[in-house]
Amino acid sequence: MNYELNHQDIRDGVVKLCAKFPGAYWQKCDREQAYPVEFVNALTEAGYLSALIPEEYGGLSLPISAGAAILEEVHRAGCNAAACHAQMYTMGTVLRHGSLEQKSRYLPHIADGSLRLQAFGVTEPDSGTDTTALKCTARLEGDTYFVKGQKIWTSRAEHSDLMVLLARTTLREQVQKKTDGLSVFLVDMRDLPEKTLSIRPIRTMMNHATTELFFDDMPVPAANLIGEEGKGFRYILSGMNAERMLIGAECIGDAKWFIEKSAAYASDRSVFGRPIGQNQGVQFPIARAYAQMRAAELMLHEAIRLYEAGGNPGEEANLAKMLAADAQWAAAEACLQTHGGFGFAEEYDVERKFREARLYQVAPISTNLILSFVAEHVLKMPRSY
Ligand SMILES: Cc1cc2nc3c(=O)[nH]c(=O)nc-3n(C[C@H](O)[C@H](O)[C@H](O)COP(=O)(O)OP(=O)(O)OC[C@H]3O[C@@H](n4cnc5c(N)ncnc54)[C@H](O)[C@@H]3O)c2cc1C
Repeated sequence: MNYELNHQDIRDGVVKLCAKFPGAYWQKCDREQAYPVEFVNALTEAGYLSALIPEEYGGLSLPISAGAAILEEVHRAGCNAAACHAQMYTMGTVLRHGSLEQKSRYLPHIADGSLRLQAFGVTEPDSGTDTTALKCTARLEGDTYFVKGQKIWTSRAEHSDLMVLLARTTLREQVQKKTDGLSVFLVDMRDLPEKTLSIRPIRTMMNHATTELFFDDMPVPAANLIGEEGKGFRYILSGMNAERMLIGAECIGDAKWFIEKSAAYASDRSVFGRPIGQNQGVQFPIARAYAQMRAAELMLHEAIRLYEAGGNPGEEANLAKMLAADAQWAAAEACLQTHGGFGFAEEYDVERKFREARLYQVAPISTNLILSFVAEHVLKMPRSY
């Protein structure tokens, strides 16, 4: 890897910070399904969450490779960035498509940590994969939009001040293309009139602070519409490649954690009077996961290289996310198996990381949808939907 992509100084800093949040901290949060407030505060204070915000708005103006390095190291250290990673990519929607007024109003506060932009409301109960089928509407009356409908899986909404929200401003039947008529809003959730926004937490198999949202004529000032009305789907899509790469980096970090943990345990644990790692049946799944991880890492670096050269590498970003999630899952499986019964014990952290790792086959985009993208857009096979 070349130096620019590596960001060794940043990696060292993240490793140092993460050392203050050992397994016991994450086990407690997991047991109580508690938000890791102290960890998120520490990342914010160190400036890592504002890495990608331009300097003129108080951020560090770092390239996406730095964001990827931060998230990878967080996961490699056994921590979990899911509590706050969205800030890195949702902020991009405001940065790329927001007005100057919106950017100067919000970004400096997001950068200094006084405002949290952690929530991203796109998925609805009847529209996950099929985003354009979403039913949540925003109707304009005077200088205010009123939002009605529901979102699901809006993670971190209870721990965020702001939310990037996708809603229909023109009904699907009234637009020529189903991707038209959707708009993006930057919703300030702090001072909303009572009962216009209800947030209901969803308990999941891992600690993820995800929620269901209900909007009952929730007012959003027209000044908080991002970009042009009706063009929101394009704005959301334009941020997807960055999201894929950043999540891919987390998967690589997890894969490294599982592989390092497996190799160490296999070398240490003795059964039949010799280390279990001496058996090739134990070695090979770990070695295979390592090979998968390295290949995925190369694809991720290629996607980042193209992105930083000014491209928008849909193929490479999608492949990197899928290969990284697959490598992560192979490593998780090898790690659990290597640990035998101890893999199931909370104090080893393997079962927690195993549960956390499973998500990335489904969200933020499922493996099937990436394969579908490759089949249709790269290999030019017939569209399936
Ligand atoms: C813990 C968690 C956190 C999340 N956080 C957020 C968030 O912060 N914000 C947000 O907006 N969303 C979030 N999501 C939602 C996530 O993006 C969706 O779950 C995901 O996009 C899949 O949508 P779905 O759950 O509706 O599945 P569905 O669309 O119902 O799909 C179900 C299965 O069918 C497959 N499938 C569907 N259509 C096809 C097809 N044409 N070809 C092949 N396979 C297909 C899918 O791949 C999937 O495996 C989160 C989800 C989870 C579980």
